[in-house]
Amino acid sequence: MEIVYTPWRLEYVQSPKQAGECVFCRAFTDEPSIENLVVYRDEELAVMLNRYPYTNGHMLVIPRPHVNSLTGLTPSLRASAAEVLTYCEAILRRLYHAHGINVGLNLGQAAGAGIIDHIHWHILPRWMGDTNFVTVFGNLRVIPEDLADSFARLGGAFPERIR
Ligand SMILES: [Zn+2]
Repeated sequence: MEIVYTPWRLEYVQSPKQAGECVFCRAFTDEPSIENLVVYRDEELAVMLNRYPYTNGHMLVIPRPHVNSLTGLTPSLRASAAEVLTYCEAILRRLYHAHGINVGLNLGQAAGAGIIDHIHWHILPRWMGDTNFVTVFGNLRVIPEDLADSFARLGGAFPERIR
């Protein structure tokens, strides 16, 4: 059996987790900043950069309720999330000239979720010839833009309100 190492996950695994504190819930209470990487929020939804991105421009769309499944969200909130994801898509096409975009949910630990208690969508740009899942597992990722630059670029791209 082949053993696959993902050393960049170590930083995440080893980062302190305070009991009862949810980084996604805090996105709605703390002021948006480079510290929390929140680039957009309204009463229902927030968008933040993924601290451990697979590509430049990897964003997370977070609904406010601290629930772990789609069934825990109202139909109205699911519809609002689709609108925010649509806006994110447009931004990634415009600012990152994405050739393709991955949008997805990992529900539960077995599905690969890093934070299992608070549902969040991943949306990330892809380019022809960029890292694929084989190269990700082979420990090769190319992320030429650092988070501060991504934050500056994406933070300025959202309006006061999307809807
Ligand atoms: Zn939460």
